[in-house]
Amino acid sequence: MIQIDKSAVSVPSILISGGRGEVATKALIQEAENGVQVFEFNSGIYGHKSVKELLRQLQYGKCCFCEDHIAHVEHGDVEHFRPKGGFQIDEHQLLQTPGYYWLAYNFDNLFYCYQICNQIYKKNYFPLADENRRVRSHKQDFRLEDSLLIHPELDDPNEHLTFINEVIKPLNGSQKGPATIKRAGLDRPDLEDDRFVYLKTLRILAAVARGNGPQAIPAQQHFKEISKATGVYSLMVRANFTDLI
Ligand SMILES: [Zn+2]
Repeated sequence: MIQIDKSAVSVPSILISGGRGEVATKALIQEAENGVQVFEFNSGIYGHKSVKELLRQLQYGKCCFCEDHIAHVEHGDVEHFRPKGGFQIDEHQLLQTPGYYWLAYNFDNLFYCYQICNQIYKKNYFPLADENRRVRSHKQDFRLEDSLLIHPELDDPNEHLTFINEVIKPLNGSQKGPATIKRAGLDRPDLEDDRFVYLKTLRILAAVARGNGPQAIPAQQHFKEISKATGVYSLMVRANFTDLI
């Protein structure tokens, strides 16, 4: 994971005040006030091309959780960090409704995500450190909740996650690290295999970068480049090659 910064861009017009997102949000709030608990959402608004494309750019084409590069826009989902329709604390609990309906079209709650991370793993899971602070309505301030999942923008993943080789590990004492690994499936075998192959190549490059040969300097420069937030699996690169970044 990398920390995503949305502060420098303008919110897509479909989600700004007066846009379709705000109109739809007002309608949802009205329904909630009438006692509705299960809502319908318009993916044509939160998943609009302009939203997805901006998120893709902000995330350097990478999934907000696994840092894998998403090959094409069509293969990525616009994921709601706080689930819009309902939430689950864990697999033993049924889906609780309503979810965070009033954040369905809120740009701050949206991230670009690999379909597998979103649909197979993260799904509607949204555990909190303290369930007593769970917000169930648009009238409450959701920012007072303490999410157990690493927020891709408000939290710094470097404080919660590290790698030993290709294996992702929570940092000591972090509660968010283990929860995020589990719920985003960051330790799933196919992802580990993919990171292992990349790491193998990087080890050969590292040997060149640490040597005295003619390719040492270009190899060192390349390491600096791929360890930036723009690079695939950049947290793994930084954790494994601290002397080269
Ligand atoms: Zn992912």
